[in-house]
This record gives sequence, structure tokens and C-alpha cells, in this order.
Amino acid sequence: MKQAFLKFGKDDSLRRYHPWIFSGAIHHFSKQPEEGEVVEVYAAKQKEDRKGFDFEYIASGHFQIGSIMIRVLTFEHEDIDQDFYERRLASALQMRKAVGLVGREDSTSFRMVHGEGDNLPGLVIDVYKKTAVMQAHSVGMHVDRFVIAKALKNVMGEDLENIFYKSETTLPFKAELGQENGFLLGGSTDDIATENGLKFHVDWLRGQKTGFFVDQRENRSLLQKYSQGRKVLNMFCYTGGFSFYAMRGGAELVHSVDSSQKAIDLTNANVELNFPNDPRHKAYAEDAFKFLDRMEKGAYDLIILDPPAFAKHKDALRNALKGYSRLNQKAFEKIAKGGILFTFSCSQVVTKDNFRTAVFTAAAQARRKVRILHQLHQPADHPINIYHPEGEYLKGLVLYVE
Ligand code: SAH
Repeated sequence: MKQAFLKFGKDDSLRRYHPWIFSGAIHHFSKQPEEGEVVEVYAAKQKEDRKGFDFEYIASGHFQIGSIMIRVLTFEHEDIDQDFYERRLASALQMRKAVGLVGREDSTSFRMVHGEGDNLPGLVIDVYKKTAVMQAHSVGMHVDRFVIAKALKNVMGEDLENIFYKSETTLPFKAELGQENGFLLGGSTDDIATENGLKFHVDWLRGQKTGFFVDQRENRSLLQKYSQGRKVLNMFCYTGGFSFYAMRGGAELVHSVDSSQKAIDLTNANVELNFPNDPRHKAYAEDAFKFLDRMEKGAYDLIILDPPAFAKHKDALRNALKGYSRLNQKAFEKIAKGGILFTFSCSQVVTKDNFRTAVFTAAAQARRKVRILHQLHQPADHPINIYHPEGEYLKGLVLYVE
């Protein structure tokens, strides 16, 4: 096993169990590791006579070239093998069982592994009925994909028949990695799952992420409660999650907007699955900003804004905040009196306070009286590792606009 030796004093964050080691913290390797290889990490301790250093084991993790150079898998001196993954996956499943997300008839979709939140940095697994869709966000998880698939099957047993692996878009592009999308187990084409009794198609091959955004499950339920008799505009609808909840909630009309025609086709298919031939729903393949510009003032009294991450990196933060302000301002200017706005940010680098300030600025620019009714976040199957606050990514506000 290759070893990474840290610079003296660069082990503080690891002592607090933060799972990332940046390239600047590493003094040297015993031998240059391959990307995706597991390395053991050693911290430098000054000798008692202060002449030189001793090294002590502190963690093991996946090596990758880049700013985050090692993603820590364990702080205990243990092997990273199938057994290790089985223990981690069993713990992830146990937690989902504890919060009542497993074995339900009416809700067959949940996130089984949420990267650092489940002490498996770089790995995401969503379950749709009997199919798990697995994504590697690090080279190490890609290299370990077959071992993880075996471990997952062992842990989930009969509840799992298919594992679809999909990492073409989540890994840094390197031809020699041989990324490919395909089944590692089974091969079912049953693509219909449920969420709180509503049905939806999951396009795990062509869809974004793992094919559906399971992280909005609870926020969609809340929206349903506020939909009775309302005219609903679902912006950035993707596969229409919020739209079919609004329809079940008794909305007078529901309009879904997404710039992608593919997303609109999926939305129409999902609405049709739940509410065949229901004339209340219409979908538009159009840019959200343009749609907001051309729509009539007061046309909608319940608006959802759930855009893609405007900032993927810290450098893009300022522009992202401007983007959120601009978008929300347009909605504030147009929403009917007594309207309700569900507004979200899923950018990891945008904090709750950042986002609230951006929305506050937008409200003031639009000169509307606004009250915060709810502050929303990611659900329990997207847990945040307490030592990794960066894992908190989804934030939302429900606002009453006078
Ligand atoms: N609300 C969705 C998830 C939204 S994901 C859900 O509950 O599942 C973000 C979506 O925004 C994507 O589908 C993407 O196609 C769309 N999008 C990105 N830029 C856009 C733009 N400028 N106008 C409209 N839609 C856009």
C-alpha cells in the first residue's frame, strides 16, 4: 500500500474528521500512486528532541490528481475491500430504514448513498424500486465499482435486481478510465417508480443525474398542501416532480417550464401517467428568464423556482448570487398578490445566508412585501456528515408575497 506523508501541522482538519485532503497538505508519497488507488495517510509528529519527525497513521482514502487529492474513506486502520463497502452500505441502508424510507409500497425511490454524508466520498446511489443507479464522482469509486456492486447486492438482497452504472458525466474526462454507462447487474427496463403514491418514469440512461431528483420529495409534499385552487408555474421543472404534486393538491392549472425539450417530454409523460388527459396541465420548452419576462403580471399565484446550480465552484459565487437575485426579482415582479413562491438553490458553495440575502435583494428590488413561511432543505436520505458541512447543498424558502 502506498503512503502519503502530510506536511507538519496539516493534519488539523483530519483530526476533526473532515474527509478531504488538499494537494497542498501533502509533503510526499512513498511512491507515486495511480489515480483511484487507496493510499494510507500519515501525519507528521515532531520528535521529543525536536530533531525531525515521526509519522503516525491517520486515515486511508482514494487518491486522485486535483485540488482535493485524497478523499478519506476511513480513519481506522482497515482494508478497503468488499467487506468494508458492505459495512458502509449496511449502515447507509440501516439509516434509511430508521427514517422509514425502505420497503414502502407507495414510495419506492430513495437515495441509498449520499457521498460524504454516508462516509463514502465520491459515491452516489439512488434506488428506484428494484433498480439502483450508481454514480462515481471520483476515480477511486470508479475503479472500485464492481466491488461496490457486489457489496450492494449482498446488502440489499432480494430487494435489488438491477444495478445501473452511470458515470460518463460525473468523472473527469480521461479516455483511459473507460467510463461507460450500463448495467452491472440485471437489465430490467421497468422504469416506473413511485414517490408518495405518485408515479414517474426514470430515464437513468439519458436523464440528468440518476434520472430523477429524489431530493425534493418532502418539499413537493409541502407544495401539494398549498396548491388547492392555485394557478401554478413550475419553473425548471425537469421531469415535472412539483407539477404532479400540485395537480394532486387541486391546483386550478399547472404550467411547467424547462429549456430542455427532453425534460418537457418527460414531464408530459409523467403527468399523463398520473392524470391522463387532464386539461389543467401545459408544458413549455422555453428559457425560464424569457418566460418570466413575457408572462403577464398576476398570471400565477404559486411559483416554483428550482434552477440548476448557478455556481459549481467558489470563484463563480458572486455571479451565481446575481443570477439568483435576477431570477427571483422577475418572479416577485410577476407573482399575483397573495402569491406563494417556492424558491431553491442547489449550489453547494452558496450558503443558506448567501441565498437568503440574494432573495432579500430581489424582493426589495421588486418592492414587494414578503414573509418567510418555511425554510427548506435536503431530506434525511441526503444526510450531512457533521464533520463535512459542505454536504449541505439544497436550501429553499417558501415565501408569502403580499
Ligand atoms: N425541479 C426539478 C429539478 C430541476 S433541475 C425536479 O423537481 O425534478 C434543473 C432544470 O433546469 C433542468 O431540467 C434544466 O434543463 C433546466 N434549465 C437549465 N437552465 C434553464 C433555463 N435557462 N431555463 C429553463 N430551464 C432551464
